Amino acid sequence: MGFCIFNNAAIAARYAQATYGLERILIADWDVHHGNGTQAIFEADPSVFFFSTHQWPWYPGTGAAAETGTGAGRGTIMNRPFPAGAGRAEILGAFEDDLIPAMKDFRPELVIISAGFDSRRGDPLGGFRLEDEDFADLTRLMVALADEHAGGRLVSLLEGGYNLDGLASATAAHVKVLLD
Ligand SMILES: [Zn+2]
Repeated sequence: MGFCIFNNAAIAARYAQATYGLERILIADWDVHHGNGTQAIFEADPSVFFFSTHQWPWYPGTGAAAETGTGAGRGTIMNRPFPAGAGRAEILGAFEDDLIPAMKDFRPELVIISAGFDSRRGDPLGGFRLEDEDFADLTRLMVALADEHAGGRLVSLLEGGYNLDGLASATAAHVKVLLD
């Protein structure tokens, strides 16, 4: 809707299903904005679980906790909105307390991260306060999820990030964990 022509995460999920026959895929989105396009594509589809932490109220205005999927997809959308100023406690807490237990039931065969770094402190388009080390810990959590359920299969896609110095350092912290 706002920043992309193609939804890379959605294309990756559908490609994995069509090409490799995977049945259940997790897309986890820590971009400061709600992943409204990803939710719209998969909200009625129980084969793709979409988890998003994001600033609220904020652009694009969707992503209430009550939005949990529709029809056959009910229960495979999980939104965790937080006010401006939120940081490690809220966002890492949501991944630990809500995403990890949900994945014990869902058991994804592939993990995709919508890795937006506009949720870092100092981003001009967001009011979250994540630090580079918080992104490293989020990455460790996601790698552990992929190891536990998906045979280690994990794809990370760069999403937002509009403070170029912060984008660089947060991305480096993220990739360093992926390469360890
Ligand atoms: Zn964003």
